[in-house]
Amino acid sequence: MLLKDEIISLGKHDVARKDFLKFCTATAAILGLPSSFSEVIAKEVTKAAKRPPVIWMHFAECTGDTESFIRATNPNITDVVLDIVSVDYHETIMAPSGDAAHKSLEDSIHNNKGKYIVIAEGAVPTKDNGIYLTIGNKTGLELATEVCKDAFAVLCVGTCSSFGGVQAQAPNPTGAKGVMEATGLPPEKFVHLPGCPHNVKNSIATIVHFLLFNKLPALDKDRRPLFAYGETIHDHCPRRNHFEKGEFVEQFGDEGDRNRWCLYKMGCKGPETFHNCSKVLWNDGTNWPIGAGHGCNGCSEKNFWDTMTPFYERLPDRTPIGAVTANKIAVAVGTATAVGIAAHAAISAKKGRLGKGDNEDKKEDV
Ligand code: SF4
Repeated sequence: MLLKDEIISLGKHDVARKDFLKFCTATAAILGLPSSFSEVIAKEVTKAAKRPPVIWMHFAECTGDTESFIRATNPNITDVVLDIVSVDYHETIMAPSGDAAHKSLEDSIHNNKGKYIVIAEGAVPTKDNGIYLTIGNKTGLELATEVCKDAFAVLCVGTCSSFGGVQAQAPNPTGAKGVMEATGLPPEKFVHLPGCPHNVKNSIATIVHFLLFNKLPALDKDRRPLFAYGETIHDHCPRRNHFEKGEFVEQFGDEGDRNRWCLYKMGCKGPETFHNCSKVLWNDGTNWPIGAGHGCNGCSEKNFWDTMTPFYERLPDRTPIGAVTANKIAVAVGTATAVGIAAHAAISAKKGRLGKGDNEDKKEDV
């Protein structure tokens, strides 16, 4: 039983002050803000009047991002959903169904024009006028356009709503696309939070950023927040020292695997994948794929199903370093050091591309 001063009120619910402050400190860290901002976050989040209305839309997907969201703790889903934001429509967790559900959606759009946030999950089929996804009497394409056009912001959670995901993998029979591309709406209101699924800490941090600054965070050229996608997995990987020393897992179960060496030769795409997985981890900081012994699949990169496969082979020969590629250099020199040099060059090439010509995009702040 907690004492009165150990509890903080979040609108309809009380949460342990200690857990709530922990959440605020962690969110400040994810956003790259000084720890002193945790108090500001606490103040803003507890202001009931600032709860932004949220409409959560499901399109062609596996509901993995909702799963990710409802597994959030500290604060738990009840606190997040009902107190930090006002979820007016969410097909998975809402009470109304059928006509009543459609009315909730229409009312929410009508009453909050220009003020509500859409959280979109799943790709939108566009071929044959979008008939491959129908919800009620409307296609997913019609619904996406209708709901997103008057939104203040659209947060595309997961790789499918951001870039099309597995539905858009070649030959893409339904013409699946990310929500922004499918609707053709102005990109300014879109934020992409890819990942398979996305990390709920990043979507909550994006919403907190909105509560704090009344605008969306700075984005990269693929409209991903820089606080979460500004650096590669490889930049902060705990196995990085083994990469530098040329110590690689050659096959699962070998000595390198048992010693938690680098997974580059097992196909790890960490050097070309921009995401903060190694810093925020998953399942409340329990672990993450590389921590569990599996290489990064590159799931937060555009078209990763086409460009990052086969998953268990080295980095694909798609990053040019002059006339050669990362793999060719590694094979030609045939030493672990060369693997390191080649991958570093690949990263530099990618960073150079992002950091030079596209620098203005990367620094975009909407
Ligand atoms: S290649 Fe993968 S496992 Fe190796 S250091 Fe980089 S991110 Fe970590």
